[in-house]
This record gives sequence, C-alpha cells and structure tokens, in this order.
Amino acid sequence: MKILRCRDVGFDCDKVMRAETEEEIFRQAAEHANAVHDLSQISEQAMEKIRTVIHDEERP
Ligand SMILES: [Zn+2]
Repeated sequence: MKILRCRDVGFDCDKVMRAETEEEIFRQAAEHANAVHDLSQISEQAMEKIRTVIHDEERP
C-alpha cells in the first residue's frame, strides 16, 4: 500500500490517504483537496510535492 499524509504536503490536517497505486492516491488527494481545502485543482508544483511525500506502507 502507498500512503500519503496531508500534513506532509503542508496542510495542518490529519487526513491520511492509502491506496495500491500512486494514481489512486492522486485521485483521493484531488478529491480531498477539493472537499476540505477548497482546491479545485492541484498545481504541477503541488503534484511534485505530493510525489515526494508518498510512502510505501509495510504490511503488518
Ligand atoms: Zn487535508
């Protein structure tokens, strides 16, 4: 699983997104950003930032 913490992107927010693929993480992030942070679009710069803070989560 891949994991993205909204906080790592720079928001004061505890939302954590998990998905099997980076594409799915981006989809969830876009939806979350739109719903919670009033961002209707994610900029190229933000995409780059997100890409650097996505982690692989070890399965227990
Ligand atoms: Zn957030």
